[in-house]
Amino acid sequence: MIELKSASEIQQMSRASLIAAQCLTFLKNQIRPGVSTETLDRQAEQFVLDRDGECAFKGYRGFPAALCVSVNDEVVHGIPGERILCTGDIVSLDIGVKIDGFYGDCAITVGVDPISKEDLFLIQTTEAALYAGIEQARAGNRLFDISYSIQQHAEQHGFSIVRQFVGHGIGRSLHEEPQVPNFGIPHKGLRLTEGMTLAIEPMVNTGVCEVFVDEDGWTARTADGRKSAHFEHTIAITSGDPLILTSF
Ligand code: MG
Repeated sequence: MIELKSASEIQQMSRASLIAAQCLTFLKNQIRPGVSTETLDRQAEQFVLDRDGECAFKGYRGFPAALCVSVNDEVVHGIPGERILCTGDIVSLDIGVKIDGFYGDCAITVGVDPISKEDLFLIQTTEAALYAGIEQARAGNRLFDISYSIQQHAEQHGFSIVRQFVGHGIGRSLHEEPQVPNFGIPHKGLRLTEGMTLAIEPMVNTGVCEVFVDEDGWTARTADGRKSAHFEHTIAITSGDPLILTSF
């Protein structure tokens, strides 16, 4: 069942979403060669706690950190640790925040400059694919209109879409119905209505779309070892334009 949110509930969700978005902006400015991924995690956790938020990922099904940090061939759900970032790496940062009983969830991919032209293009294309999907998040459209737009954008530029992980509804739970795939047939899927709140999150690979989860039980990696990028926004469907709750 899909839980529709009232305007005041969406207002409440925007608090968590704003903290999550501001946290990523803060972390983006900490990315440089020599920084460890666990340092980013500590900074993220402190940022959220200082604003009276809860770190939604910490302890979620046993995930050990506040922040997912996925470097290069890591797609999503990377566990922060001793790894030191190097020039040329691309780093996906994913944070979930809970406050006032509601969740917000967002992700960005950042290069440790200078990065290759190909990697920059991957990052830019993934972000643009997210916005192409959001553009379709309108009352009256179908769910897979979002999915199809994302897929089209990524594939037109020569990249592949991860299928094993998808976006999701979000609100009083971190993961609600419906699932939001990043691929699909246009004009299919459930009818979108005002009050739906979704976390839309394309994961785009340079090479093949296949991924596997490594032995830590969390980190998803590309099957061919090539790079992957991830962007995510929490959005609300309104009577007009989609509302991006994790923007600032
Ligand atoms: Mg998510």
